[in-house]
Amino acid sequence: GTGTPLLELKSLRVFYGAIEALKGIDLTVGEGEIVALLGGNGAGKTTTLRTVSGMLQPREGQVCLRGERIDGIKSHELVQFGIGHVPEGRRVFATMSVRENLEMGAYRFKSVDSADLDRVFTLFPRLAERRSQYAGTLSGGEQQMLAIGRALMGRPELLLLDEPSMGLAPLIVQQIFEIIHEINQQGTTVLLVEQNATQALGLANRGYVLETGSVAMSGDAQDLLADPRIRAAYLGEG
Ligand code: ATP
Repeated sequence: GTGTPLLELKSLRVFYGAIEALKGIDLTVGEGEIVALLGGNGAGKTTTLRTVSGMLQPREGQVCLRGERIDGIKSHELVQFGIGHVPEGRRVFATMSVRENLEMGAYRFKSVDSADLDRVFTLFPRLAERRSQYAGTLSGGEQQMLAIGRALMGRPELLLLDEPSMGLAPLIVQQIFEIIHEINQQGTTVLLVEQNATQALGLANRGYVLETGSVAMSGDAQDLLADPRIRAAYLGEG
Protein backbone atom coordinates (compact mmCIF):
# COMPACT_ATOMS: atom_id res chain seq x y z
CA GLY A 1 0.00 0.00 0.00
CA THR A 2 2.99 2.38 -0.35
CA GLY A 3 2.17 3.18 -3.95
CA THR A 4 5.06 1.06 -5.23
CA PRO A 5 3.64 -1.51 -7.64
CA LEU A 6 4.29 -5.15 -6.94
CA LEU A 7 5.66 -5.52 -10.46
CA GLU A 8 6.93 -2.81 -12.75
CA LEU A 9 8.40 -3.19 -16.23
CA LYS A 10 10.29 -0.13 -17.40
CA SER A 11 11.22 0.46 -21.04
CA LEU A 12 11.78 -3.27 -21.41
CA ARG A 13 13.55 -4.39 -24.59
CA VAL A 14 14.04 -8.09 -25.23
CA PHE A 15 15.65 -9.73 -28.26
CA TYR A 16 15.86 -13.21 -29.72
CA GLY A 17 19.12 -12.83 -31.60
CA ALA A 18 18.50 -9.95 -33.99
CA ILE A 19 14.70 -10.07 -33.55
CA GLU A 20 13.37 -7.42 -31.18
CA ALA A 21 10.41 -9.11 -29.49
CA LEU A 22 9.74 -6.39 -26.88
CA LYS A 23 10.39 -2.84 -28.05
CA GLY A 24 10.23 -0.85 -24.83
CA ILE A 25 7.37 -2.13 -22.68
CA ASP A 26 6.09 -0.15 -19.68
CA LEU A 27 3.68 -2.06 -17.47
CA THR A 28 2.70 -2.16 -13.80
CA VAL A 29 0.85 -4.69 -11.69
CA GLY A 30 -0.39 -3.45 -8.33
CA GLU A 31 -0.57 -5.70 -5.30
CA GLY A 32 -3.86 -7.60 -5.30
CA GLU A 33 -4.68 -6.89 -8.93
CA ILE A 34 -5.47 -9.16 -11.84
CA VAL A 35 -3.90 -7.64 -14.94
CA ALA A 36 -4.66 -9.07 -18.39
CA LEU A 37 -2.01 -9.05 -21.09
CA LEU A 38 -3.72 -9.29 -24.46
CA GLY A 39 -2.70 -9.26 -28.09
CA GLY A 40 -2.50 -11.39 -31.20
CA ASN A 41 -0.03 -14.10 -32.13
CA GLY A 42 3.57 -13.01 -31.83
CA ALA A 43 2.72 -9.76 -30.01
CA GLY A 44 5.19 -10.54 -27.23
CA LYS A 45 2.95 -11.78 -24.40
CA THR A 46 4.87 -14.97 -23.68
CA THR A 47 8.17 -13.13 -24.01
CA THR A 48 6.98 -10.65 -21.36
CA LEU A 49 6.19 -13.43 -18.87
CA ARG A 50 9.46 -15.23 -19.61
CA THR A 51 11.37 -12.04 -18.91
CA VAL A 52 9.57 -11.45 -15.61
CA SER A 53 10.32 -15.00 -14.50
CA GLY A 54 14.00 -14.72 -15.42
CA MET A 55 14.03 -17.15 -18.34
CA LEU A 56 15.03 -14.29 -20.64
CA GLN A 57 17.22 -11.30 -19.87
CA PRO A 58 16.28 -7.87 -21.20
CA ARG A 59 18.82 -6.07 -23.32
CA GLU A 60 17.56 -2.76 -21.95
CA GLY A 61 15.10 -1.63 -19.33
CA GLN A 62 14.20 -3.01 -15.93
CA VAL A 63 12.02 -5.53 -14.17
CA CYS A 64 11.25 -4.38 -10.61
CA LEU A 65 9.52 -6.29 -7.85
CA ARG A 66 8.38 -4.00 -5.02
CA GLY A 67 10.75 -1.41 -6.43
CA GLU A 68 13.80 -3.70 -6.43
CA ARG A 69 15.40 -4.73 -9.69
CA ILE A 70 15.14 -8.43 -10.40
CA ASP A 71 16.23 -8.57 -14.03
CA GLY A 72 19.41 -10.61 -14.24
CA ILE A 73 18.26 -12.99 -11.49
CA LYS A 74 17.85 -16.55 -12.76
CA SER A 75 14.44 -18.19 -12.87
CA HIS A 76 15.13 -20.86 -10.23
CA GLU A 77 16.17 -18.11 -7.80
CA LEU A 78 13.11 -16.01 -8.58
CA VAL A 79 10.92 -18.67 -7.00
CA GLN A 80 12.42 -17.46 -3.71
CA PHE A 81 11.12 -13.98 -4.55
CA GLY A 82 7.55 -15.25 -4.73
CA ILE A 83 7.06 -15.41 -8.48
CA GLY A 84 5.18 -18.42 -9.81
CA HIS A 85 5.00 -19.06 -13.56
CA VAL A 86 2.50 -21.35 -15.23
CA PRO A 87 3.96 -21.67 -18.74
CA GLU A 88 2.15 -21.99 -22.03
CA GLY A 89 1.30 -25.62 -22.70
CA ARG A 90 1.25 -26.55 -18.98
CA ARG A 91 4.40 -28.73 -18.93
CA VAL A 92 3.35 -31.15 -16.22
CA PHE A 93 5.62 -34.11 -15.44
CA ALA A 94 3.72 -36.80 -17.35
CA THR A 95 5.22 -39.86 -15.66
CA MET A 96 4.79 -38.51 -12.15
CA SER A 97 1.58 -38.62 -10.17
CA VAL A 98 -0.58 -35.59 -9.52
CA ARG A 99 0.63 -35.48 -5.95
CA GLU A 100 4.31 -35.75 -6.98
CA ASN A 101 3.82 -32.91 -9.47
CA LEU A 102 2.39 -30.75 -6.71
CA GLU A 103 5.26 -31.65 -4.38
CA MET A 104 7.72 -30.52 -7.07
CA GLY A 105 6.10 -27.09 -6.87
CA ALA A 106 7.16 -26.82 -3.22
CA TYR A 107 10.86 -27.32 -4.00
CA ARG A 108 11.80 -23.94 -2.57
CA PHE A 109 10.80 -25.14 0.87
CA LYS A 110 12.62 -27.75 2.94
CA SER A 111 9.58 -29.97 3.00
CA VAL A 112 6.08 -30.16 1.63
CA ASP A 113 3.51 -28.51 3.89
CA SER A 114 0.32 -30.57 3.94
CA ALA A 115 -1.67 -27.33 4.35
CA ASP A 116 -0.44 -26.25 0.89
CA LEU A 117 -1.55 -29.57 -0.60
CA ASP A 118 -4.91 -29.25 1.16
CA ARG A 119 -5.35 -25.76 -0.24
CA VAL A 120 -4.73 -26.97 -3.80
CA PHE A 121 -7.01 -29.98 -3.36
CA THR A 122 -9.74 -27.70 -2.01
CA LEU A 123 -9.41 -25.35 -4.98
CA PHE A 124 -9.29 -28.29 -7.40
CA PRO A 125 -11.33 -31.23 -6.10
CA ARG A 126 -10.67 -33.06 -9.40
CA LEU A 127 -6.99 -33.15 -8.53
CA ALA A 128 -7.78 -34.55 -5.10
CA GLU A 129 -9.75 -37.38 -6.71
CA ARG A 130 -6.85 -38.07 -9.08
CA ARG A 131 -3.93 -37.53 -6.73
CA SER A 132 -2.34 -40.92 -7.47
CA GLN A 133 -2.94 -40.83 -11.21
CA TYR A 134 -0.09 -40.15 -13.68
CA ALA A 135 -0.26 -36.51 -14.78
CA GLY A 136 0.16 -37.57 -18.42
CA THR A 137 -3.22 -39.33 -18.28
CA LEU A 138 -5.14 -36.22 -17.15
CA SER A 139 -7.38 -34.28 -19.53
CA GLY A 140 -6.15 -30.94 -20.85
CA GLY A 141 -8.23 -29.03 -18.33
CA GLU A 142 -7.01 -31.18 -15.46
CA GLN A 143 -3.41 -30.67 -16.58
CA GLN A 144 -3.99 -26.93 -16.56
CA MET A 145 -5.39 -27.19 -13.03
CA LEU A 146 -2.34 -29.21 -12.03
CA ALA A 147 0.04 -26.66 -13.55
CA ILE A 148 -1.69 -23.87 -11.59
CA GLY A 149 -1.76 -25.99 -8.44
CA ARG A 150 1.94 -26.77 -8.78
CA ALA A 151 2.74 -23.06 -9.00
CA LEU A 152 0.60 -22.38 -5.91
CA MET A 153 2.66 -24.90 -3.94
CA GLY A 154 5.49 -22.34 -4.09
CA ARG A 155 3.18 -19.79 -2.34
CA PRO A 156 3.65 -17.10 -4.98
CA GLU A 157 2.77 -13.48 -4.33
CA LEU A 158 2.72 -12.95 -8.08
CA LEU A 159 1.29 -15.62 -10.35
CA LEU A 160 2.10 -15.48 -14.07
CA LEU A 161 -0.42 -17.42 -16.15
CA ASP A 162 0.28 -18.01 -19.85
CA GLU A 163 -2.93 -18.72 -21.77
CA PRO A 164 -4.61 -21.00 -19.25
CA SER A 165 -7.65 -21.33 -21.54
CA MET A 166 -5.71 -22.62 -24.53
CA GLY A 167 -7.33 -25.61 -26.18
CA LEU A 168 -9.94 -26.11 -23.47
CA ALA A 169 -13.71 -26.46 -23.78
CA PRO A 170 -15.75 -23.37 -22.76
CA LEU A 171 -17.11 -24.98 -19.58
CA ILE A 172 -13.60 -25.85 -18.38
CA VAL A 173 -12.36 -22.38 -19.28
CA GLN A 174 -15.16 -20.96 -17.15
CA GLN A 175 -14.11 -23.14 -14.21
CA ILE A 176 -10.44 -22.20 -14.56
CA PHE A 177 -11.32 -18.49 -14.66
CA GLU A 178 -13.46 -18.84 -11.54
CA ILE A 179 -10.55 -20.49 -9.76
CA ILE A 180 -8.16 -17.73 -10.86
CA HIS A 181 -10.63 -15.28 -9.33
CA GLU A 182 -10.65 -17.26 -6.09
CA ILE A 183 -6.85 -17.48 -5.98
CA ASN A 184 -6.73 -13.71 -6.38
CA GLN A 185 -9.34 -13.25 -3.63
CA GLN A 186 -7.08 -15.30 -1.37
CA GLY A 187 -4.36 -12.68 -1.86
CA THR A 188 -2.32 -13.64 -4.92
CA THR A 189 -1.63 -10.99 -7.56
CA VAL A 190 -2.09 -12.25 -11.12
CA LEU A 191 -0.62 -11.33 -14.50
CA LEU A 192 -2.72 -13.21 -17.03
CA VAL A 193 -1.80 -13.70 -20.69
CA GLU A 194 -4.84 -14.49 -22.83
CA GLN A 195 -6.02 -14.61 -26.41
CA ASN A 196 -9.50 -14.82 -24.98
CA ALA A 197 -9.91 -11.07 -24.47
CA THR A 198 -13.55 -10.98 -23.37
CA GLN A 199 -13.16 -13.48 -20.59
CA ALA A 200 -9.78 -12.13 -19.48
CA LEU A 201 -11.13 -8.57 -19.23
CA GLY A 202 -14.21 -9.88 -17.43
CA LEU A 203 -11.90 -11.16 -14.72
CA ALA A 204 -9.17 -8.49 -14.69
CA ASN A 205 -8.97 -5.08 -13.04
CA ARG A 206 -6.83 -3.67 -15.83
CA GLY A 207 -5.42 -4.74 -19.15
CA TYR A 208 -2.64 -4.09 -21.63
CA VAL A 209 -2.83 -4.80 -25.33
CA LEU A 210 0.46 -5.66 -27.02
CA GLU A 211 1.03 -5.27 -30.74
CA THR A 212 4.33 -6.36 -32.29
CA GLY A 213 6.28 -5.84 -29.09
CA SER A 214 4.78 -2.53 -27.97
CA VAL A 215 1.89 -1.54 -25.72
CA ALA A 216 -0.86 -0.39 -28.10
CA MET A 217 -3.49 0.27 -25.44
CA SER A 218 -3.94 -0.03 -21.70
CA GLY A 219 -6.54 0.86 -19.13
CA ASP A 220 -9.28 -0.35 -16.83
CA ALA A 221 -10.70 -3.66 -17.96
CA GLN A 222 -14.22 -2.23 -18.30
CA ASP A 223 -12.97 0.63 -20.48
CA LEU A 224 -11.02 -1.76 -22.70
CA LEU A 225 -14.06 -4.03 -23.03
CA ALA A 226 -16.11 -1.06 -24.19
CA ASP A 227 -13.45 0.29 -26.57
CA PRO A 228 -14.50 -0.05 -30.22
CA ARG A 229 -10.90 -0.73 -31.30
CA ILE A 230 -10.67 -3.66 -28.88
CA ARG A 231 -14.06 -4.91 -29.94
CA ALA A 232 -13.04 -4.82 -33.59
CA ALA A 233 -9.60 -6.36 -33.16
CA TYR A 234 -10.13 -8.97 -30.44
CA LEU A 235 -13.80 -9.57 -29.89
CA GLY A 236 -14.71 -10.34 -33.47
CA GLU A 237 -16.83 -7.23 -34.03
CA GLY A 238 -16.69 -4.25 -36.33
P1 ATP B 1 1.45 -16.31 -29.11
O1 ATP B 1 0.11 -15.93 -28.62
O2 ATP B 1 1.46 -16.73 -30.54
O3 ATP B 1 2.18 -17.25 -28.20
P2 ATP B 1 2.96 -14.07 -28.02
O4 ATP B 1 2.26 -12.76 -27.95
O5 ATP B 1 3.09 -14.85 -26.77
O6 ATP B 1 2.30 -14.93 -29.15
P3 ATP B 1 5.81 -14.31 -28.21
O7 ATP B 1 5.79 -15.78 -28.16
O8 ATP B 1 6.25 -13.55 -27.04
O9 ATP B 1 4.38 -13.77 -28.64
O10 ATP B 1 6.68 -13.88 -29.47
C1 ATP B 1 7.05 -12.52 -29.76
C2 ATP B 1 7.96 -12.49 -30.98
O11 ATP B 1 9.19 -13.14 -30.68
C3 ATP B 1 7.40 -13.21 -32.19
O12 ATP B 1 7.73 -12.48 -33.34
C4 ATP B 1 8.10 -14.55 -32.18
O13 ATP B 1 8.23 -15.07 -33.46
C5 ATP B 1 9.44 -14.20 -31.60
N1 ATP B 1 10.00 -15.33 -30.83
C6 ATP B 1 9.44 -15.97 -29.78
N2 ATP B 1 10.24 -16.95 -29.32
C7 ATP B 1 11.33 -16.94 -30.11
C8 ATP B 1 12.52 -17.72 -30.16
N3 ATP B 1 12.74 -18.68 -29.27
N4 ATP B 1 13.42 -17.43 -31.13
C9 ATP B 1 13.19 -16.43 -32.01
N5 ATP B 1 12.10 -15.67 -32.03
C10 ATP B 1 11.18 -15.91 -31.09
